[in-house]
Amino acid sequence: MRVLVTGAAGFLGSHLCDKLIQEGHSVVGLDNFITGSPDNIAHLAGNSKFEFFMHDVSNYIFMSGKLDAVMHFASPASPNPLSPFSYPNLPIQTMKAGALGTHNTLGVAKANGARFLLASTSEIYGDPEVHPQSESYWGHADPVGFRSVYDEAKRFAESLTMAYHRFHNLDTRIVRIFNTYGPRMRLDDGRVVPNFILQALKGEPLTVYGDGAQTRSFCYVDDLINGIYLLLLSEEHLPVNIGNPAEITILQFAEEVNRIIGNKAGIDFHATKRLGDDPQRRQPDITRARSILNWEPKVNLLDGLEKTIAYFKSKI
Ligand code: NAD
Ligand code: UDP
Repeated sequence: MRVLVTGAAGFLGSHLCDKLIQEGHSVVGLDNFITGSPDNIAHLAGNSKFEFFMHDVSNYIFMSGKLDAVMHFASPASPNPLSPFSYPNLPIQTMKAGALGTHNTLGVAKANGARFLLASTSEIYGDPEVHPQSESYWGHADPVGFRSVYDEAKRFAESLTMAYHRFHNLDTRIVRIFNTYGPRMRLDDGRVVPNFILQALKGEPLTVYGDGAQTRSFCYVDDLINGIYLLLLSEEHLPVNIGNPAEITILQFAEEVNRIIGNKAGIDFHATKRLGDDPQRRQPDITRARSILNWEPKVNLLDGLEKTIAYFKSKI
């Protein structure tokens, strides 16, 4: 296949490019570097199976040559307003990437008769009242909260993708990605994994927002990318959760990072930094991924963190 990947210079997009090339496909990468980095795709320069274009997906996309698949990953993804690379600080760009970017990439897929895969998110479930979250849950999201620029853009993107599927018979897929971590995460995007690892490596206390009782379920990037690749090859058109169901509180996660790195500086609780609509609990129900894709995560938190910490050490 010849596959267009938007957000190719980002954390997930760059791993996806690697996976597609490794599986024998050709990739056209597209990114405007708003939160990504050329470093993430530098190793692909000169590879005959990789082309790259610097472009904003919110603008019309001119593509030459036939495409077999379009995978739309371009969007800021960090909720932390303390980072300039977060969606609260890129609110209009985030809404445009999710809304106009999805429209433009669906248009490219339609013009090529290509299959389409949307990178959606567990954020569409908002601060969930159902636990764990299965795909049949409609969510509990605040349409005007500070996370709404991301949540509502992704909810719109899912709806537009289904409209193209139902109205134009486009061959679409939707993956709902739960918290994923690993090498090539931006060190300064403010998400909890890079924040805690950097703080621990510097011997500083870890900044736990609120009391740390909120939970997340962390998936290692290789597991996620394998699941997304299987979804691309499948015939499933309704959303599929991909993530690791191993749920942990943020406080337990901080203690684990400190233990692995040997950081003695402890924890610093930042009650005031707790963000208004920070989801209290998040855990994917992956029953559908297990049955439809025969997929489940394989990498445990300790192994995944060790690989991620080694990457962060090489970057600081
Ligand atoms: P990232 O910030 O590392 O990657 C996003 C990439 O998209 C960056 O390279 C950025 O420069 C690019 N981009 C943003 N807006 C663009 C635009 N208008 N035009 C062109 N390029 C643009 O983030 P990530 O974690 O790799 O996330 C990738 C995708 O996966 C996003 O769509 C995100 O919503 C989704 N997702 C990620 C996670 C996660 O845990 N990492 C969870 C849920 C969903
Ligand atoms: N968090 C934290 N300290 C930090 C960064 C994040 O306690 O330095 C918390 C945040 O409040 C949230 C969780 O960690 O409850 C996960 O945050 P992240 O930014 O990684 O993404 P989210 O899952 O909220 O989209």
